[in-house]
Amino acid sequence: MSIRLFDSKEQAVRAFIPRESGRVGMYVCGPTVQSSPHVGHLRSALVYDQLRRWLTHQGLAVTMVRNVTDIDDKVLDNANADEPWWALAYRMEREFNAAYSALRIQAPTYEPRATASIPEMIALIERLIERGHAYASTDGSGDVYFDTHSFAAYGALTNQGVDAMDAAADADPRGKKNPTDFALWKGHKSGEPESASWSTPWGAGRPGWHIECSAMATKYLGSAFDIHGGGLDLRFPHHENELAQSAAAGDDFAGYWLHNGLVNIGGQKMSKSLGNSFFAADLLAAQRPIVVRYFLGSAHYRSTLELHETALAEAASAFERIEGFLSRATRAGLTATTTVPAAFAEAMDDDLGVPTALAVVHDTVRAGNTALDATDSANGAAAAGEVRAMLDALGLNPESPEWADGSAAGDAALGALDTLITSLLEARAAARANKDFATSDRIRDDLAAAGITIEDTPDGAHWSFHG
Ligand SMILES: [Zn+2]
Repeated sequence: MSIRLFDSKEQAVRAFIPRESGRVGMYVCGPTVQSSPHVGHLRSALVYDQLRRWLTHQGLAVTMVRNVTDIDDKVLDNANADEPWWALAYRMEREFNAAYSALRIQAPTYEPRATASIPEMIALIERLIERGHAYASTDGSGDVYFDTHSFAAYGALTNQGVDAMDAAADADPRGKKNPTDFALWKGHKSGEPESASWSTPWGAGRPGWHIECSAMATKYLGSAFDIHGGGLDLRFPHHENELAQSAAAGDDFAGYWLHNGLVNIGGQKMSKSLGNSFFAADLLAAQRPIVVRYFLGSAHYRSTLELHETALAEAASAFERIEGFLSRATRAGLTATTTVPAAFAEAMDDDLGVPTALAVVHDTVRAGNTALDATDSANGAAAAGEVRAMLDALGLNPESPEWADGSAAGDAALGALDTLITSLLEARAAARANKDFATSDRIRDDLAAAGITIEDTPDGAHWSFHG
């Protein structure tokens, strides 16, 4: 096995060697459930789903933890009298999970909520205070800060010196020693709900964002684990601070740091302040989920993904070419799944090179179509078997049970539709045989208007939905 990954702490591609042979522990920063998921959230979750699937494909047993940040300033800010913070957080968590499921992003091994790990956060803060890397504010606010000047390695993840950093903006500066010191614990403020307050040795309050992930990652994966992932926008300060807290407390923490690129809309970084946020629901309404998965996963995970209508339409046609070949092979009775070609595996092993891997998929589809055109079913079958194996590895096999509707009603509706369309196709064939082209064209046009594409092949006409 020769998987290589770009470790953004070392700023280099490194051979991936799990700490324990055959096993991988992976922590991915999940959403702060303050508002509906946007396209950037989907892309980030999808990238780590692709990685997890590939590591699993290569024989590794992956334990993946992705958290839910359900207590945070932003969650409290967006709550109101009609919807308390915990109700808002849970409603948004369900929206995220629905969007993940639509894209067949597999559920993590475990998905901890921050509010369920408060004792572990308090214990970690106590260790930091004992070691001289954290201090409780002396102004009675109940705040506890990480002392950035006490830890020489602070800045190691993003390679910055503490003196060059901006002030930490994660809390009101109540009794801070240094502007860069960041909040580990935020003392309860008047006006904040009592339900968002936990008691500690230094007063009641709630956790800072960064300590949540340090505590949850080590609670479920141990003090040392293999991969820490998240969006590039989390690299500083969030991940820098996670690393500082855990390393200063004496934990080895993550062996490899991975960061996925962001999503650009109309050339601008997506952010709500720019008013160009694109919600997951909008994208899922614009295209079939499997096409959205293909599109969001088609750029290299470290590159910026450009989202515009042309790119989405191109992704839809590219994916339809793959689907067209697979249904053609299936109709010819070539239904086997074999193994991925060596070039595909090499691309995926090389820092998850999905664009190169997808080029192998499209080359194989072209070769398979050429073989079927020449009624060469041996090579057609070989190509179809490889295409299915590659799509399975990417979570994109439209024939796989994970993409089946699964509902009895859906199956029954599809069966009824097939009966009706088959009957129309027979009427069309009869009209053509009688040289009644007005009728045969009308049937074809009616079906097209209903979103049905007819393909005439040597073994009869076949129908499919067009995108
Ligand atoms: Zn995090």
